[in-house]
Amino acid sequence: MDTSDKGFNSKLIHSGGIVDEKGSAITPIYQTSTFRFKDADQGARFFSGEEKGYIYTRLGNPTIEDLENTLTDLENGYGSLATASGMAAVNTVYLTLLGKGDHMIGHHALYGPSRGIMEKLYPKFGIESDFIDATSIEEIEKVIRPNTKLLYLETPANPTMGITDLTAAVELAKKHNILTCVDNTFCSPYLQKPLDFGIDIVLHSMTKFINGHADIVGGILVAKDKVLFEQLKYVMINMGFNIDPHQAFLARRGLKTLGIRIDRAQESSMKVAEYLESHPKVEWVLYPGLKSHPQYELGERQMNGPGAMISFEVKGGLEAGKTVMNNVELAVLAVSLGGVETLIQHPASMTHSKLSREARDSAAISDGLIRLSVGIEEVEDIIADLDQALKLV
Ligand SMILES: *Cc1c(COP(=O)(O)O)cnc(C)c1O
Repeated sequence: MDTSDKGFNSKLIHSGGIVDEKGSAITPIYQTSTFRFKDADQGARFFSGEEKGYIYTRLGNPTIEDLENTLTDLENGYGSLATASGMAAVNTVYLTLLGKGDHMIGHHALYGPSRGIMEKLYPKFGIESDFIDATSIEEIEKVIRPNTKLLYLETPANPTMGITDLTAAVELAKKHNILTCVDNTFCSPYLQKPLDFGIDIVLHSMTKFINGHADIVGGILVAKDKVLFEQLKYVMINMGFNIDPHQAFLARRGLKTLGIRIDRAQESSMKVAEYLESHPKVEWVLYPGLKSHPQYELGERQMNGPGAMISFEVKGGLEAGKTVMNNVELAVLAVSLGGVETLIQHPASMTHSKLSREARDSAAISDGLIRLSVGIEEVEDIIADLDQALKLV
């Protein structure tokens, strides 16, 4: 069905465009590694691209394509590529846009491994990088070099909730002929559409909000135009970063409720953030929906909502934070985010522990910072749970 004139929640349900010949109401799982050609000529036509058809699942599969088409539609892109994980999507971008002698600029507080691999693995291939506070356009401009090829952003960033002005970042990058990529995992296309701001590539860890049920690992890339899409696709399929059809099916299913899940989690997040901010044992709270967030106005302009991720610090630093993490009962002490269940974790010893102390310090990831991913349980229960744990501090 043509969903181009439909609203977001309708697209979540009906986008995809793969029609099953047997008439199934939803796109089934095409659990096959390879596809039968009618005759030798058809196989040749599929390979040459003269006719569109399925060849081999690493190169394309209807279940995967249904998911990719949906994300293309939701992000207003040219084309999408589903990957085995969010990190496979990140590596596809790095490997496509960067080569020997190239330089990239990244926000200092990214998802830990997105920065970690650029500092530890990619120098081996002659690729250089700078990680700076990309919430300041002046800081980005300061580190631009003639060989800078990529500006890699995450907004709001992980876990410091810093927001980058996408319009200003695109303007600066265009002036210097630099391509831009945004990791949109924290927002999902429901709350932010970076391509609409002129960003070149958007990626997600589908493990988080897109799938939403903490039961698969997956990633997705959405390219703004055909040229970039074909370049990314070449790397993705030849590196073998593709997703499996069964994983794709689950992500497509989870995606249908993205809107209602985020509406609910976001409403609760606001209440949880206000509760934490007024708690005498809490030092500070960072949530884009609070007026106290340093970039509250920018967030209001750029995002369709503040999301469901909250960072906070308990008075007494890490020890006090540990008391909270060890005593919550409803919230699950686990990394990851964006699922229906509330998760709590400690970036300095968990998700960002592989970064150097200097990197964490420069990115303002304090030892006492706790990250909360608010789920869709009853908000009274989430707050009561935090409340009983905070009493023990
Ligand atoms: C989880 C995450 C990733 C990595 O995704 P995986 O699916 O775990 O490989 C990248 N970016 C952000 C913001 C994430 O939260």
